[in-house]
Amino acid sequence: MRKNVYLCTYFFYMCGIVGYIGKQEAYPVLIKGLHRLEYRGYDSSGVALIDKQKELSVYKAKGRVSDLEEFCKSKAISGTLGIAHTRWATHGEPNNVNAHPHYSQSENLALIHNGIIENYAVLKEGLIREGYTFQSETDTEVLIQLIEYVKISNRVDLCTAIQLALKQVVGAYAIAVIENGNPDLLIAARKSSPLVVGIGDAEFFIASDASPIVEYTKQVIYLEDEEIAIIQRNEPPKIVNLNNVEQTPQISQLELSLNALEKGGYPHFMLKEIFEQPRTLKDCMRGRINVENNNVTLSGIIDNKEKFLNAKRILILACGTSWHAGLIGEYLFEELCRIPVEVEYSSEFRYRKPIIYPDDIVIAISQSGETADTLAAIEQAKAAGAFVYGICNVVGSSIPRNTHSGSYTHVGPEIGVASTKAFTAQVLVLIMMALNIAKEKKTISQEQYERTLTELVQIPPKIEMILKQNEKIEDLSKIFTYAHNFIYMGRGYSYPVAMEGALKLKEISYIHAEGYPAAEMKHGPIALIDQEMPVVVIATHNTTYDKTISNIQEIKARSGRILAIVNKYDQKVKDMADYTIEIPETEECLDPLLSIIPLQLLSYHIAVKKGRDVDMPRNLAKSVTVE
Ligand code: GLU
Repeated sequence: MRKNVYLCTYFFYMCGIVGYIGKQEAYPVLIKGLHRLEYRGYDSSGVALIDKQKELSVYKAKGRVSDLEEFCKSKAISGTLGIAHTRWATHGEPNNVNAHPHYSQSENLALIHNGIIENYAVLKEGLIREGYTFQSETDTEVLIQLIEYVKISNRVDLCTAIQLALKQVVGAYAIAVIENGNPDLLIAARKSSPLVVGIGDAEFFIASDASPIVEYTKQVIYLEDEEIAIIQRNEPPKIVNLNNVEQTPQISQLELSLNALEKGGYPHFMLKEIFEQPRTLKDCMRGRINVENNNVTLSGIIDNKEKFLNAKRILILACGTSWHAGLIGEYLFEELCRIPVEVEYSSEFRYRKPIIYPDDIVIAISQSGETADTLAAIEQAKAAGAFVYGICNVVGSSIPRNTHSGSYTHVGPEIGVASTKAFTAQVLVLIMMALNIAKEKKTISQEQYERTLTELVQIPPKIEMILKQNEKIEDLSKIFTYAHNFIYMGRGYSYPVAMEGALKLKEISYIHAEGYPAAEMKHGPIALIDQEMPVVVIATHNTTYDKTISNIQEIKARSGRILAIVNKYDQKVKDMADYTIEIPETEECLDPLLSIIPLQLLSYHIAVKKGRDVDMPRNLAKSVTVE
């Protein structure tokens, strides 16, 4: 009979770590922290606490953090030491048993874990031979059983057992462990999954990122790979490595504001983040664009000028929305800097014996800075001698710490799972990089450089103008909620925008959508067109405008329903399209910053009309820290 395991017995649908040791009751701090981490996406959650009687108890529930709270309501939960987890299942379906924390065999230890123990099967077989039994299907339970096995068989303390066990582990982990009978000790460790320690006044916190900690303290330590934090009540945290060598922790100051984590009056984080874009893009330009002398400088480019001037090739590595930003980067660097570019999915790149030259520049793009596949691809590129430049949003995250140089996007926390403001800022950083390099390389005329910069600073007010059409776009969205499929078309710079528009719709409305280069339609996809098929076309005034018009005619001739993104004084497309949304004109290479805005709003409103969980769409995680 297992003691003190309280499983939520009713069902309700739906990754992150929080831990606390101090003078307050841990449970409210843990629950609040889990809510702050909800944006990462998860399927179940749980807490473990040690009470006054030094008894360890675990409570867990499938679904939302609110389900866990509901379940815990009737329990007498107390204790000033606890750990909590939101799970995004990798091994074993999302259910109460597979949810974390996991007990060890004796139920003396409880563990929470983000990441994957890749050699869990071999370790599990060994433990089964030693008489261990398993309750869950997770890789995580194998780790806590291993820690206990090592502790008992080697007669060592908990920290030594964790060190010895982690040496046997292949994979990624951020973990926290507490022990029955020991209300004064919290141990945490990480490898390839983020973990931060918060230092308060006689209280300490651990979390996957700073958002659960910021309201209690601004002082944090970011753990490095294979570091262990030993947090004893009322003592400063001690950081050691797997060989028990003490490390000198670097204490950082958090700059995150609590306000920035809340919805600010908007019904969803996503809408708030779409509307923040005029400001976030200004923030991203701040200190980089000097309007008076019409200049753009990125310190990461200037500090490594020779490398960029001599680069034979740029490789852009990214996943998802960041990959779409990367595709826009390809157009930018080729057009403005005359450097050949390849854009790769990090997950494909790392496993296909890629050819990387020492004079390649690798640009890694990731909002969270924790994308597991991109991190692994960066290590490969570094091993081959390439110079690696990161474009990330989360300050102090793993990618900025593991690249040679880089630029932050500075848009503040992005909570909505579907990326919006991070995307436009990634594109903006790529534009500023391309302009800076092009000027140094003299591959851009002074006239084009100045014109583009003048236009660039006009982008935020132009986005404001597009946002004023929110209600119109909401009305239009009603027309399209019926659709089961959508096609998005664009050419040149608008082609990656079409793909990003389609991805936004898929992610949050669960409507199937594809983004195509408009000229490719007749090579297959045009067969899908009938009067039921909405086709969103980006038809702004650019070099391929006339060609896009021909592509629209082809759709029209097959009765497709056309929603076109056009420039204000356009007449030709307006005459052909069923519906249009106007956006201001700008330089061709800046157009994606404007044309994506109506597509973000359209997806948002369609998803809301369909009753979807916009900020936390099913099956998705915000920060993909597993491969
Ligand atoms: N691999 C573990 C599991 O499936 C942890 C997943 C997570 O990072 O939440 O339970």
